[in-house]
Amino acid sequence: MTASTTPSDPAALARELFENYDRYKKTEITTRRFTHAELMQWLKQFEEQKVVESSPAGKSGEGRMIPLLKFGNGQTKALLWSQMHGDEPTATMALVDMLNFFAQEPDHVVTKTIREKLTLLIIPMLNPDGAERFQRRSVHGIDINRDALRLQTSEARILKATQEKYKPEFGFNLHDQDPRYTVGSSKNVTAIALLAPSLDEKKTETPSVKRAKHVAATFAEVLNVFVQGHLARYDDAFEPRAFGDNVQKWGTSTILVESGGWKDDREKMFLRKLNYVGLLTSLYVIATGAYQEAKLELYERLPFNGKNLYDVIVRRAKVTQKNAPEITVDIGINVEEQKDPANGNIQLVGKIVDIGDLSSYGAFEEIDGSQIPALTGEQVKLEKTLTVEKGKKLF
Ligand SMILES: [Zn+2]
Repeated sequence: MTASTTPSDPAALARELFENYDRYKKTEITTRRFTHAELMQWLKQFEEQKVVESSPAGKSGEGRMIPLLKFGNGQTKALLWSQMHGDEPTATMALVDMLNFFAQEPDHVVTKTIREKLTLLIIPMLNPDGAERFQRRSVHGIDINRDALRLQTSEARILKATQEKYKPEFGFNLHDQDPRYTVGSSKNVTAIALLAPSLDEKKTETPSVKRAKHVAATFAEVLNVFVQGHLARYDDAFEPRAFGDNVQKWGTSTILVESGGWKDDREKMFLRKLNYVGLLTSLYVIATGAYQEAKLELYERLPFNGKNLYDVIVRRAKVTQKNAPEITVDIGINVEEQKDPANGNIQLVGKIVDIGDLSSYGAFEEIDGSQIPALTGEQVKLEKTLTVEKGKKLF
């Protein structure tokens, strides 16, 4: 990657980052299930190389240290926090990749511009206790994203205190959503959903909210280069207890980035790459001020998330019932990860979630049911679980 030229537009820069990603991604991260201890190990290197300054932001409910990383010494501050929900690690991986890029390319125009114009405040893995269990909630079973007002969890207090102390101009609230959300009423899976959260019921557009919309529009413009038709807008109803909405209200122009799903990307490595490109490009464009030129309709015209997707659909299968005529149905199946209590290994378990005319639904995988022998009513039942094994037929 050349360090001399100034990228002419966000899309061109994004393309460059996308193409060279393999050089900068943190290769130690190979699965989305990683622990706090592993993350600390990866981050240690950046601290030792003096890429970032790290200080404890506080401790989790169970006493795990939650670091606040600082990069750059510019006037404008941007706060980025990820994995407030323990089982939503995609952006955490991307943040590590981004720091790896800064470490390897200290003289690149993107690194230099961000370092000089911005101060990045990064809290990766805000919920390490949840991450340890790969669960959404805190050790107490609290959704930290509904604790912005009561501040009962130490993790919520850490985020609130950091926002209060630095009063950052920009905020990035980084999550993973249901991987089966679709773009509006289409069958296209949502790769990434974006939102400039509302700060009240009336969705008042203050200058700060408008600025957030410009950042969201920049993010959409960048990702459109790679996944056009796979971007959605997250539900914009005001949630008085959530962090995104409150941080917005406290004056930080905040966007929510929700990583969704992608075919054959259970470990979310492609979505991690999209996050990396989207975040790095958006931060660069915030640093240059060019984000203000992003066309708002790129964000405002994004359809909201819909839900028209199953993991697998068996189309037009024949089903026989005792005492009833044979009928033709589509079978919708979702596949979940389950921990085997015996050895802790992750297994995939399929579950029949719908039967009937599923013509308005899409799927990551479609099976032609007319090519398989008629199934019995015993085989095709709502809620029935199915063994999912590579190379093995579902029925
Ligand atoms: Zn979340």
